[in-house]
Amino acid sequence: MISVNEALKIVKENTFIPSISEVPLLESMGKILAENIVADRDFPPFDRVAMDGIAIKKSNQIIFEIEKTQYAGEPQKTLQNPKNCVEVMTGAVLPLGCDTVIRYEDVDIQDKEGTKYAKISIPFSEIKSGQNIHPKGSDRKQGDILLQKGLKISPAEIAVMASVGKDRVLIETPPRVAVISTGDELVEITTNPKPYQIRMSNSYMLAGALAQIGIKANLYHLTDDKELLFNKLQEILLNHDILLLSGGVSAGKKDFVPEILNNLGVKKLFHKVAQKPGKPFWFGKSEEGKTVFALPGNPVSTFLCFCKYFLPQKEEQVILDKTIFFKPDLTYFVPAKTYFQDGQMMATPFEGSGSADFANLTDCDGFVELPADSQEFKSGISFEFVRFRG
Ligand code: AMP
Ligand code: MG
Repeated sequence: MISVNEALKIVKENTFIPSISEVPLLESMGKILAENIVADRDFPPFDRVAMDGIAIKKSNQIIFEIEKTQYAGEPQKTLQNPKNCVEVMTGAVLPLGCDTVIRYEDVDIQDKEGTKYAKISIPFSEIKSGQNIHPKGSDRKQGDILLQKGLKISPAEIAVMASVGKDRVLIETPPRVAVISTGDELVEITTNPKPYQIRMSNSYMLAGALAQIGIKANLYHLTDDKELLFNKLQEILLNHDILLLSGGVSAGKKDFVPEILNNLGVKKLFHKVAQKPGKPFWFGKSEEGKTVFALPGNPVSTFLCFCKYFLPQKEEQVILDKTIFFKPDLTYFVPAKTYFQDGQMMATPFEGSGSADFANLTDCDGFVELPADSQEFKSGISFEFVRFRG
């Protein structure tokens, strides 16, 4: 049986490689950028006026005749006489011959016989040369990489791409994912279950978790019937890139999933991981590079395996606030609630009643990962955390 780290390494090495597609800018929202975005000109592209007011050539003068007005969207004008000023609007090009902008709030505009003057109304020492000007190229230079490929596109990235005129953008095509619940005991959630049946909550849990990362999954239910499993899984494999199955991978008499996947040419990369919960986890890959995660059916096992091996995880450490004993030679994933205390992330473990106790998860934010090589995990010691909330 392989360790959690070995299993994770195999999963990462065999991640499905998405194709690249070109989409209209707005359709790229939430997707992964597949090209670098380069500044087509300086940011800002000219010395930009940052306040409505007057532009001057700074000297000791405090009264200026208003020579002209420079609006946003006009070509650059020139201050003819350095003793005069230009009225300027936010977003305008700084007029040639000016080096400082004083906002309207700090000047009095006076009209004397048809000629307009601006008089500085604040102490002269408060005016700094170059103030209220956003200099050309001060944010980014032409040719700079503004966005690196591989990042997730948010409205901020959309704005940057719009500003460089990208109306179409290359993205990683989101994978087509199938979520498949297997089991004779399972019924649709709209059905009133018989006493010996249960509703297939796993499909909804996985589809919900996928929706959170921008993937819309197709849902299926297959009963524990070899022929049906073979035919349906063959069809599903044709139309999807990633399969997430739950159930049918343990040692039960009707746990046919590994055998059927093998018959369909999906190569087993591992079956069984030294962990609790989720030990019977099976992972494989088809010849076309499609990946199959066949997860144990117990809801906490299903969810832990999904979070640990499928969800992108940031490295995070938490400090246990309660000592835990766990004897078996397995990595133990304990559901836990996290909270901040004295600047540190703490975790209260909820051992609950095992891998079927998924109601417990509603009180938790993730799983503390307790390594296989120890039996006592002391309060106050930090461990890795697999987060699904917050
Ligand atoms: P299995 O892995 O097929 O042996 O299933 C283990 C346990 O998980 C059984 O009690 C199943 O009823 C339960 N289970 C399997 N699939 C689901 C599902 N989709 N939703 C909720 N429980 C499930
Ligand atoms: Mg089953």
